[in-house]
Amino acid sequence: MRIANTAGRLVLVDGDRILDVESASEGRFDADPALVFSRWDEFTEWAGSIDVGGHPDAAPVGDAELGAPSPRPRQVIGVGLNYADHAAESGLAIPEYPVVFTKFASSVSGPSTVVRLPGDTVDWEAELVVVIGRGGRHIPIERAREHIAGYTVGQDLSERTVQWLGQPAQFSMGKSYEGFAPTGPVLVTLDEFADPRRLAISTTIVSPDGTETAVQRGNTEQLIFTVDDLVSRLSEVIEFLPGDLIFTGTPSGVGAGMDPKRFLVAGETLVTEIEGIGTITQRFVAGDAA
Ligand code: ZN
Repeated sequence: MRIANTAGRLVLVDGDRILDVESASEGRFDADPALVFSRWDEFTEWAGSIDVGGHPDAAPVGDAELGAPSPRPRQVIGVGLNYADHAAESGLAIPEYPVVFTKFASSVSGPSTVVRLPGDTVDWEAELVVVIGRGGRHIPIERAREHIAGYTVGQDLSERTVQWLGQPAQFSMGKSYEGFAPTGPVLVTLDEFADPRRLAISTTIVSPDGTETAVQRGNTEQLIFTVDDLVSRLSEVIEFLPGDLIFTGTPSGVGAGMDPKRFLVAGETLVTEIEGIGTITQRFVAGDAA
């Protein structure tokens, strides 16, 4: 199953057709996408009985404005250094325990956005994002998937100067500016993937003249702490709540790892893609631009 948030309304997605959930369920499920996660098991059971493509009310997605699949998560957890090649390019050791920070929830946005650059060291990090369905604490690794609503694409945008201000560092601040947690375009349940542990993930920079530069090319099979392991370990401390997000870390190819370092400038667009989910697109403008 695929779901999306079109102009603030929860929809089921089948190819290029969408079906409004509130209307198709005759009001059983709310239009607000944020509310579905607390009824995830009930929702998936209902959705499994719906043939979206053949439904008389299905409509073309067209130019619908897509929002974040989970638009108001109460917790957004980021995991650092979760790919060995990224730890190496950062000059840091492979962690023995997940390196955890938060992207404050107000940084969450949808898949197609314009982002103001708050500084001249804004960097990209393509990430697989886990959306939590059923909440809980002390989740055993073998039950982790029962708590996952699905996967979406995310960018863990990071202002590196602020991130590394002070001792210890300020990861949560450097990664929480407005629009710094774009997600989407859809949420995909795990049964939709041939192998949800092995998904190609990439970032491409498109310059104002249209030139494309591939900067990140990885695969989620390289995760040091797997998705199931993260859900289990984090739940030893954190009570997961329906709709929470976990940004699971980024592969190599970030700007801070280049020689010389290379950061985003106004006019550039970032295209982030994960196999089987789709792409999100962020265009950057100067910090004082409207
Ligand atoms: Zn990250």
